[in-house]
Amino acid sequence: MTDASLYELVRRVASVEPDALPRWMVGNDRYAGRLDESEISRLAAAALTDGEGAARTLPIGKSPEALASELGISVEYADAAIDVAGHLFSADYRLKPPRVRLYRRALAAIDRGLAEPGVAEIIGTASAQPVLIAHEIYHHLDLARPTTLAQRHRITSFRLGPLHLKTELPSLAEIAAGRFAATLLGLHCHPKLLDLLLLWDSDPEWARNWVAAFESFVLPLRRTCGGEGGAHRIAMGG
Ligand SMILES: [Zn+2]
Repeated sequence: MTDASLYELVRRVASVEPDALPRWMVGNDRYAGRLDESEISRLAAAALTDGEGAARTLPIGKSPEALASELGISVEYADAAIDVAGHLFSADYRLKPPRVRLYRRALAAIDRGLAEPGVAEIIGTASAQPVLIAHEIYHHLDLARPTTLAQRHRITSFRLGPLHLKTELPSLAEIAAGRFAATLLGLHCHPKLLDLLLLWDSDPEWARNWVAAFESFVLPLRRTCGGEGGAHRIAMGG
């Protein structure tokens, strides 16, 4: 792991079954609490279905930039720092007026990763820009609905007698936005994988740790889930 190249890391994450990355995203959600494996799978699947369904309502063959313009979303570019308190920012969506903001340094960092031999072929794009715009278009569409995806799938995070505290999981919209972009652009995997390229550009060790955390989530699951049904414990970090 210590010397793994970016290509090797991307290949390893992409070679695991496609829904593992979305499940990991739910499992990592800071509000996910003690969701069990079947609940994580159900929520990830619901988010993927929602993202794909939203993409299928749009006309085929238009670029995300053209779609954003038709939907009245402006696209802006920011030169701001992308590393804030250990979190890397690549793009965001703002309401009133609706606009997508792309961070130039993040775009350049991801594009450098995509330019490494073999990486763009695995992911299915040579450029971050259309992927990030498409991702943010999903947030625009989601927020325009009477209830957002996260509101429709709130989980019980706290229970005390008759009192149930319901919580929204931010990861669900991120999973859906990624699948939306993948459907629109014909990507070969969930574009959450672009985060790995961004991390790599900042610090390869950070990227290697990201993959190690993903594999520690997903590999015990693969080893123990040969049969059907049944509740399997996920051995974290094992
Ligand atoms: Zn997002």
